[in-house]
Amino acid sequence: MSSLVKAIRIAENGGPEVLELVDVEVPPPADNEITIRQHAAGLNFIDIYFRSGLYKHPLPHGLGFEAAGVVTAVGKAVTRFKVGDRVAYGQSPLGAYAQARNVPAAQVVSIPKGVSFEDAAAMMLKGLTVQYLFRQTYRLQGGETMLFHAAAGGVGLIACQWAKALGVKLIGTASSQEKAELALANGAWKVIDYSKENVVERVLELTKGKKCPVVYDGVGKDTWNASLDCIEPRGLMVSFGNASGPVEGVSLATLAAKGSLYVTRPVLGIHVNTPEKMQAAADDLFALVTKKKIKMRIDQRYPLEQAAEAQIALAGRKTTGATIFTLD
Ligand code: NDP
Repeated sequence: MSSLVKAIRIAENGGPEVLELVDVEVPPPADNEITIRQHAAGLNFIDIYFRSGLYKHPLPHGLGFEAAGVVTAVGKAVTRFKVGDRVAYGQSPLGAYAQARNVPAAQVVSIPKGVSFEDAAAMMLKGLTVQYLFRQTYRLQGGETMLFHAAAGGVGLIACQWAKALGVKLIGTASSQEKAELALANGAWKVIDYSKENVVERVLELTKGKKCPVVYDGVGKDTWNASLDCIEPRGLMVSFGNASGPVEGVSLATLAAKGSLYVTRPVLGIHVNTPEKMQAAADDLFALVTKKKIKMRIDQRYPLEQAAEAQIALAGRKTTGATIFTLD
């Protein structure tokens, strides 16, 4: 039996005005899928890249990669879930902005007891990202000092808390005093207000001239050059996002001149592309959440009807922490 639910679709790439709220049918799940009645979905910067066309997908399509809810139907080949299970995901096919949908079971995990749907919906994409950045891309060790841009954002506030839990000194950046204070309250060691202060000079001061073994940069174009100048010789530049625009025209000679640097441009998908990898990364995240080392901070909640307003706020640097869509 199928049913109609509300979902966001885009028929063309463009500004927030291309987001359309529509009624869609949820067919019975395919053999490898489960149907989820979703209670909350996460908003992420990557949703804006897919809306604008910076990242391409055949149109028309839904938006969103991250949500949580209850299983209402199970495909014939699925053994890991049953109707009634509380589940979440952070790396699905496009289309999480929806009251219900089908998702491949391989991309879904069970939500631990004590974790709400809202928190699960907010943490899956962002928290799994911090997991791979800190435990796989570069395995941070207690006592190290590193730089993490946009530390008061959705990924940023989880990063601050995860770094603290590891005994790592996270130097964050943020564009206002309020955001800087929020990052500090969440475990950042120091925060540089990059709207006023010179990032490279402050990092040199804070590290007593040593710089950092690794810099995590989700801001992209605007911070690329400064980030390279904050990395110690043979250190690693992790360029994982484009909030200010994509980094283009990278010269290998620059990496040589700035200290034989390494660069990586990682994406979450490859780190969680089997059920085993997904579960291992989720277990790592959930362990810190259940021990209360990481507390989700959801500072913005919107109904699906206001998807455009939500994306405008995120793109306009008006948000802190995570943003979710409430779907009940
Ligand atoms: P955030 O909540 O961090 O929002 C983005 C933040 O970037 C803003 O709040 C703002 O903080 C900062 N920023 C700096 N310059 C700009 C600008 N010109 N326009 C807009 N924002 C700017 O977003 P998310 O937590 O969703 O994502 C953070 C980054 O991580 C994004 O680039 C995203 O694409 C990336 N990402 C990458 C993944 C991967 O696997 N590669 C997975 C998940 C996220 P401030 O005002 O303090 O400068």
